[in-house]
Amino acid sequence: MTAPRPLIAGNWKMFGLGSAVQEARKVAEDLAARPARGRVAICAPATLVERLARAMAGTDVIVGGQDNHTEVSGAFTGDVSAEMLADAGARMVILAHSERRSYYGETDSLAAAKAKAALRAGLEPIVCVGETLDERKAGRTLEVICRQTKASLPPELAHSPFALAYEPVWAIGTGLTPTTEQIEEAHVALRHALIEALGAAGAGVPILYGGSVKPANAVDILKAKEVGGALVGGASLKAEDFLAIIRAAD
Ligand code: PEP
Repeated sequence: MTAPRPLIAGNWKMFGLGSAVQEARKVAEDLAARPARGRVAICAPATLVERLARAMAGTDVIVGGQDNHTEVSGAFTGDVSAEMLADAGARMVILAHSERRSYYGETDSLAAAKAKAALRAGLEPIVCVGETLDERKAGRTLEVICRQTKASLPPELAHSPFALAYEPVWAIGTGLTPTTEQIEEAHVALRHALIEALGAAGAGVPILYGGSVKPANAVDILKAKEVGGALVGGASLKAEDFLAIIRAAD
């Protein structure tokens, strides 16, 4: 049986004006010249999704969003629905990123409702979980991330493609990364939580690692047990760095 293709997803966060499309073009051109083993996605700010989707049409780069509302449409000023993202050309969406959990108070049950909405619109969700530094210091990492996982995944996900992203909050944008042993311990626990939550379908869900993934540490992270790809923030903004991480999965 061939191993499933890893997913290398970039999270551009609230970075990128129109000129950033050029970086995505460089990624797509490199992949056209030499296809990668992994699937590659760029999750862009909502304002760039349509432009990026047009520019990436026919390439190996999948375009995604970074959040969606639970409703199809309505009086929710400032929000974007999953259907709107899909209409703009997105095929994926990051949900429950720790920045949304901490700055906007997003809960596990909201994450589950948003994941359901993403599926309704045909998007592939990347659902994020991760412990804070205090939780890790208190020895609660596995309890926290397994609880988040079980409560953030609606049962409908058992029948649709999606990814879970393990992102220790203290590793995001800090340059700090867990040891390989810590990553493996978390990912193995998450695999069990996925199977508990979704039955046999949980065995095949890719578990991405995210948190200060860089060209220099990507090979080691991507070959760790139960790591099915990476969610990459800062290092996805420059084509050269993002490509080096994509190539680390080849
Ligand atoms: C992220 O935003 O999901 C992330 C992992 O960021 P960084 O790679 O910059 O730590």
